[in-house]
Amino acid sequence: MKKTLPLLALLGAMLSGFLSAQEARPNILFVFSDDHAPHAIGAYDGWLKKVNPTPVIDKLASDGMLFVNSFCTNSICGPSRAVIQTGKHSHKNGFMNNGNTFDWNQQTFPKLLQKAGYQTAIYGKSHLKGKPQGYDDWAVLPGQGLYYNPDMIFPEGRKRIDGYCTDVVTDLAVGWLRNKRVAGKPFMLMVQHKAPHRNWMPALRHLDLYDDVEIPEPPTLFDEWKDNAPAARLQELEIDRHMDLNYDLFLDLTPEFNQPPSQLRQDRSAWHNMKRMSEEQLKKWRAAYGPRDKAFHEAKLSGKDLVRWKFQRYAKNYLRCVKGVDESVGKLQETLRQLKLERNTIVIYCSDQGFYIGDHGWYDKRWMYDESLKMPFIVKWPGVTKPGSRNTDLIQNLDYAQTFLELAGTKLPEDMQGKSLVPLLKGNTPKDWRKEIYYHYYEYPSVHMVPRHNGIRSKRHKLMHFYQFKDEWELYDLKNDPDELNNLYDDPKHAQLRKRMKARLEKLRKHYEDESDTSVKPDLIKKYRPQS
Ligand code: CA
Repeated sequence: MKKTLPLLALLGAMLSGFLSAQEARPNILFVFSDDHAPHAIGAYDGWLKKVNPTPVIDKLASDGMLFVNSFCTNSICGPSRAVIQTGKHSHKNGFMNNGNTFDWNQQTFPKLLQKAGYQTAIYGKSHLKGKPQGYDDWAVLPGQGLYYNPDMIFPEGRKRIDGYCTDVVTDLAVGWLRNKRVAGKPFMLMVQHKAPHRNWMPALRHLDLYDDVEIPEPPTLFDEWKDNAPAARLQELEIDRHMDLNYDLFLDLTPEFNQPPSQLRQDRSAWHNMKRMSEEQLKKWRAAYGPRDKAFHEAKLSGKDLVRWKFQRYAKNYLRCVKGVDESVGKLQETLRQLKLERNTIVIYCSDQGFYIGDHGWYDKRWMYDESLKMPFIVKWPGVTKPGSRNTDLIQNLDYAQTFLELAGTKLPEDMQGKSLVPLLKGNTPKDWRKEIYYHYYEYPSVHMVPRHNGIRSKRHKLMHFYQFKDEWELYDLKNDPDELNNLYDDPKHAQLRKRMKARLEKLRKHYEDESDTSVKPDLIKKYRPQS
């Protein structure tokens, strides 16, 4: 007995130490929206800050750490999510463009978190197709999902849920926190909003928000892309020429107000997204937009005035959708407080890429220009991240998987390609932190006609390579030219910089083992752009 007592005591001490270490592992609440550009977040100090679009997310930033130089690897919905799941670039995880189907059988960070003892759940937009793996509970929107009364796919099947999508997703997550969470087990909860993705339909309570406000215009609203490679002039994402008054902006073009217009394809009309609304919802929608549409028709706008009107309508609807997301972040944090989970839960706000909100005259994303390359990334880790801190290290969505795994205290797989952000969150940037990020976009030919390109960005410079039609390059000094209007690639004064950046691009391409075909295909431009 005398011999076994100290042994038992030792075992007991070890077990309790183990348990307290287990308990100490932080929970992770990862709130992830779709197409929310950093410059549409007040804390990021963009030109939209003036309209105070995100008070709740701004508060999260003032309580935690905001990453100024946060970038995606491939600026489009599905691929960004696949990179986050795997910690691998698109060419490694196989999901290179939205037409692909994600191979859920491959290694993903939620599966590894489960193995490490975490309870995991995901609600909202998956955009990866197929049945999610690595989650103890889930409910995902089919494809892009709908803003009003969306269908959702649950493990047991598909069903319609009445309500506004952002609220529906928030309520599923809150319900999970309250009723399905296993007490004493660390969790990782992903709340993935559809908003503020096109086609921008705000919640009924936000239809009148910003009604009496003039949204400031971006300085590049009337950019003519004079200094860019030809790709910038051959796209189809201009507010002026490509944004549809009815499909994108819900402008009434018919006497019956947004009934299916016979002259438009049904899937390209506003009605395609409105037909899901209830009579009561439609009534409120029409009451808000009807008078605005009437005023528009009476004004008979054209030229730049029409572009300005479209920008206002677009930016307001976009920011109204953002407002719903901002409120969701508040509701989720309030739930953590009520459940006394706040102290040991890391709250992250992030979106899959940036977006053009009239910048360069555009909407959508895809390009390596900063507005769509940047991702918001804000982390509140109570007791660890310094409140109100702003990190300027170069980070990517490639890094999240390893970050989550290090937080869980589990082994980091050697084949992941990112770097854990945990040291950065603790305020200690490793001396050998990356000096450039690597980017590669693949979806061409496709909607919006943004050609394939790759490139690198350092804190100060950016090199972009368009390779499909012929060898075309852009080089920017972001310190002196943040709007990327002066392409320095052919400037003899910057020959050394050009040489250095090209060598770095080649080095990073090899480092990430990107062997994608980047050869010139001269026939492609003739086929898809016969007028060029
Ligand atoms: Ca997106």
